[in-house]
Amino acid sequence: MKAVRFVGVGYPAQIRDVPKPEVGPGQVLIRIGGAGVCHSDLHVMEQDLGFRGEFTLGHENAGWAAEIGAGVTGLKEGDAVAVYGPWGCGHCYACQVSAENYCENWAVIGGFGGGLGFDGGMAEYMLIPSARFLVPLGSLSPVKAAPLTDAALTPYHAIKRALPLLTAGAAAVVLGVGGLGHMAVQLLRVLAPTRLIAGDVDPAKLEQARALGAHDLVNTRDVNAAAEQIRNITGPRGAALILDCIGVQATFDLGAQILGRNSAWTIVGLGGGHHDFHHGSTPYGCVVSIPYWGSRVELMEVIAMARDGRIHPEVSEFPLDRAVEVYTKLKAGEIRGRAVLLPG
Ligand SMILES: [Zn+2]
Ligand SMILES: [Zn+2]
Repeated sequence: MKAVRFVGVGYPAQIRDVPKPEVGPGQVLIRIGGAGVCHSDLHVMEQDLGFRGEFTLGHENAGWAAEIGAGVTGLKEGDAVAVYGPWGCGHCYACQVSAENYCENWAVIGGFGGGLGFDGGMAEYMLIPSARFLVPLGSLSPVKAAPLTDAALTPYHAIKRALPLLTAGAAAVVLGVGGLGHMAVQLLRVLAPTRLIAGDVDPAKLEQARALGAHDLVNTRDVNAAAEQIRNITGPRGAALILDCIGVQATFDLGAQILGRNSAWTIVGLGGGHHDFHHGSTPYGCVVSIPYWGSRVELMEVIAMARDGRIHPEVSEFPLDRAVEVYTKLKAGEIRGRAVLLPG
């Protein structure tokens, strides 16, 4: 079968022929419906994040159960499923409370999940090492649901942690209206009565944010002008939540200027920016965090919201063999919402 492969740091993704995986006891083989194309794959290919050897990319996956390993119950062939992405050990405290994204044994597992060290979903089939990584989709289409597993789950986890701050009269700022950001805007509208400010350098992405429910749009190309514009909206209270989906130096610098006291500064983008954290540089009571992905039950919650029609990924579909071109488009900022690769 054809697969989109990570072949080493400094090289673009390559499309190669790989054997169809064989399913073992406790495992499930899924036929991929769609695999989301995430900006973090570009960081995997361009920076040294510690990945060695080849593997199939694609950490945002959904499809149908195709072959079910011995001992797996509660699932039958043809069931539509989403794949939970961060694969933990399954038995530590964090994994037992479903937070496999914070598995204590992450350092010895040998990878972060399918598409991040292990073979992912940019292929016709994907081997899932344990049935616990599958969440039923019911009537949701796997193509439309694939981005829920990261582009929605990651901001959902981040926003949930900040919910006590997101009261009426407070302001939340989403920086970057890409794959994660366009889901974050929708999630904030569902979860909180806050004023919602969206920031991006691309006017088309800001218009998308408006259509998805953002109250105020700020072009962040000029950091100081954007900070002033946001401060005019929030007043002296500042932002209660900044959800930085980019994480470059410019968005860090902007965040530092607009944070309120007793706030959450949450960085999910891997852009490599930094902040000098000390008394005087950061408002009192501000919680700075870099949450990672989300828990298995949070994926169930995200899927429930999508099934109820409260959130939806805006998807552009591409055939798998255009993967390399899609990564180039993503890097150039030419993808709105989420690009999803379809095998076959
Ligand atoms: Zn991702
Ligand atoms: Zn664990």
